[in-house]
Order: sequence, then structure tokens, then C-alpha cells
Amino acid sequence: MDIKKNIASLKQQLPAHCTLVAVSKTQPVDVIMEAYEAGHRIFGENKVQELVSKFEALPTDIQWHMIGHLQSNKVKYIASFIHLIHSVDSYKLLAEINKQAIKARRTIHCLLQIHIAKEESKFGFSEAEVLELLHQGALEKLSSIRITGLMGMATNTSDTDQVRDEFRTLKKFYDQLKSMPLPANMEMKELSMGMSGDYKLAVEEGSTLVRIGSAIFGERLK
Ligand SMILES: *Cc1c(COP(=O)(O)O)cnc(C)c1O
Repeated sequence: MDIKKNIASLKQQLPAHCTLVAVSKTQPVDVIMEAYEAGHRIFGENKVQELVSKFEALPTDIQWHMIGHLQSNKVKYIASFIHLIHSVDSYKLLAEINKQAIKARRTIHCLLQIHIAKEESKFGFSEAEVLELLHQGALEKLSSIRITGLMGMATNTSDTDQVRDEFRTLKKFYDQLKSMPLPANMEMKELSMGMSGDYKLAVEEGSTLVRIGSAIFGERLK
């Protein structure tokens, strides 16, 4: 794989308002350094232990994004350095991120993961659950987190109409929230959707953050 060429070609295709998160899960640090040396600074990982060891091994100007399911008891390991957590899927997790952010004396930026796929296994809030949290006023108390948008994963299917539909549903909910009065620590400016197989559709449907692994680094072995 020509990592440098892949990144350049993706960046050329993406509109200016859309940021590339290079998903480096399972890739060793020397491979990540190839992307770094090509000028890339934004990387996504899905496992806490792997994320921490790469953070420790790699240059400090990398922005690390957590994109995988996060257990509350592991937030403490990433709270001091994480740039954005895409995969927040419960109030309990939000509350724990807030607690660890206070300890780390920083504000941690989060996206709410919304369940949009037709598959059972994908994590995320339903739209109704998010609206209920807003209605209860449950989020404004968490003053050391900042919710900057939403994240979603489409169904893993070759049916592009279905994938487009799911992205469109997420964008519609994002726009709905954007038009509502939101707590001071919440704003809708990031919409994280699109992976190697579906980022073109996601961009057409309004993505501002694409999470791309195999189209940069090649197929993962594990
Ligand atoms: C692995 C992963 C990606 C990237 O997948 P590719 O198909 O390799 O681009 C994106 N988002 C999440 C949440 C992932 O776990």
C-alpha cells in the first residue's frame, strides 16, 4: 500500500468541511509513522489498550480519536489526552467521561453515537433516548464534557440505497437537534459518518468527519 498516496488522494476527494480520521487500529507504529511523515495528524483507534500504547510511542502532536465501544471503567486511561470520543452510547458513560475530565482538568469533546443500522449488534442511542436526555436536562450538569455532534455507522451491506437512507436519517436528526435549544455544553458541528466502503455516500449526505482505515492502510489481517 502506498499510504502517502492514499491519504493524498482521499484528502483531494473530500470537501473542505470534511476531516479525515485515519483509522490505524491493528496497524503497528512504524506503519502509522508513514502516515505521520506524509503530514497526517488525526488517527482513530477502537481499543483503549492499543490507543494508550500508541499514544505513548508516537509523536505528541497527533490528535487521537476513540471510535470504538468504550467501557466506563476504561475512560480513566485516555482522559488526559483523547481529542474526541466518537462512540459515546450511554448516559453512564457521559457521566464517567465528565468525572475523569474533571480529574484531568480538561474538557473532553464527545459525539453521541446514534444507532442507525438495521443490525442488532451496533451500539448507540436511539433518537428518542437523546431527546429524553435533553428533556430531562441531564446533560448541562456535565460541565467538563462538550458534545460537539453525532456519530453513526451504517449497515454493512452492498445495498447503497439502504446505506444512503441510514446516513440521511442521521443527518436529519442532526439538523433537528441543531434547530433546538441545546445546553451550553452541546452544539451540532460534527457529523461522523462514513468508512472505507461508504464514505462517498456519507460525504454526499453531509458528513464532516470520515473514519477511514483499509482504504489508507490496506485490508487488516486481524
Ligand atoms: C474499523 C472502523 C472504521 C474503519 O473501517 P474501514 O472499513 O477500514 O475504513 C471506522 N469506524 C469504526 C467505528 C471502526 O471500528
